[in-house]
Amino acid sequence: MNAPEKLDLVSIRASSLAELFDCPARWAAKHIDGKRLPRSAAAQLGTAVHASTAVYDASRLTGGRPVTADDAAGALVDAIRHPEEDVEWEDTKPQEAERIGLSLHARYCAEIAPQQKYLGVEVACERLEIPDLGIALTGTTDRVRETADGQIGIADLKTGGRAVGADGTVTTAGHGPQMGVYELLAEQVIGRAITAPAQIVGLNTGKTAAAQRVGTGEIEGARAALVGTAEQPGMLEHASRIIHSGLFFGNSKSVLCSPKFCPAHPTCRFKG
Ligand code: SF4
Repeated sequence: MNAPEKLDLVSIRASSLAELFDCPARWAAKHIDGKRLPRSAAAQLGTAVHASTAVYDASRLTGGRPVTADDAAGALVDAIRHPEEDVEWEDTKPQEAERIGLSLHARYCAEIAPQQKYLGVEVACERLEIPDLGIALTGTTDRVRETADGQIGIADLKTGGRAVGADGTVTTAGHGPQMGVYELLAEQVIGRAITAPAQIVGLNTGKTAAAQRVGTGEIEGARAALVGTAEQPGMLEHASRIIHSGLFFGNSKSVLCSPKFCPAHPTCRFKG
């Protein structure tokens, strides 16, 4: 009998896994062919809020002097005014992004952070290689948290115009694969079992104060869906099959199938 073929390892960033299932052709364009679009205003606003909230939370981990929400907000202003790469602001002015970001940052510090007990902030994880599937998982976990009943879990900040609904419900749909990868990665770093549901911290980037909502939602069983069982292959096995078959089919029904979000759009033969 022939030995099973050894697969070359392909890196998958946690944040890209959902995209692989949404449109494999777009994933391949970005992550194999290296095609990129200019950074959007929404993405830069997300980066800015991540930066300032991380400063605020990290200062409370170290046992040193916690910085105030106002002081931590400087990181947000910096990220908006001095982005590390070009940003396509389009109809969102940087001043408007800054105003929305500062409001969400303040609400995060006042309403969300006091409810949390974080063990890690922006936890850089070791690359997790899975040779049997020919993939290696990478990513940085926003937060590792401890729940009131002593369980360990991960938390991830999500900004966006639909991050929190008008009724306060946080959008969790579609984030499961990414959270599952963070759980696998974080477990390696902290050396403790992750048993709490993954938590999504939603920060809604609405233009009006009423639409700038914050809240939390949970995803149960994210890791189990990734890993699967003996009877049912998990998402990682499906990901491996797509990548190693090289069959990067397109999905013209994807909500991101547009020149604004897909760098393959000008030449894609799958688009509608
Ligand atoms: S243009 Fe549409 S179908 Fe083609 S790769 Fe992009 S998202 Fe997928």
